[in-house]
Amino acid sequence: MKVKIRKGDTVEIISGRLEDKGKRGEVINVLLDDRRVVVQGVNIRTKHQRQVQTQAGRNINPGRIQFEGPIHISNVMLVCPKCSNAARVGVQRDESGVHRVCKNCQQLID
Ligand SMILES: [Zn+2]
Repeated sequence: MKVKIRKGDTVEIISGRLEDKGKRGEVINVLLDDRRVVVQGVNIRTKHQRQVQTQAGRNINPGRIQFEGPIHISNVMLVCPKCSNAARVGVQRDESGVHRVCKNCQQLID
């Protein structure tokens, strides 16, 4: 199955961690090989940075770095820009190429 979600799309979280369920956000990265997406503001992970000393003798400040963790594509649904519902996406071909179609409102997404 082809991945129908692209960078810049808005998606809704339909399952996964409870606090993220129902959240919407913009896709900031698509990891095709893993079938995962990174969604802005969703699945925030905190990485603890230990204090490290560089060879120049400078200290890099310890602290917490927050970043978005990838989410499996099956846990998100595309939000249709036409009807703003989380919708299944179909594919339609015509003379100008392949377009994604919202199965909710039947309008072309792109
Ligand atoms: Zn739609």
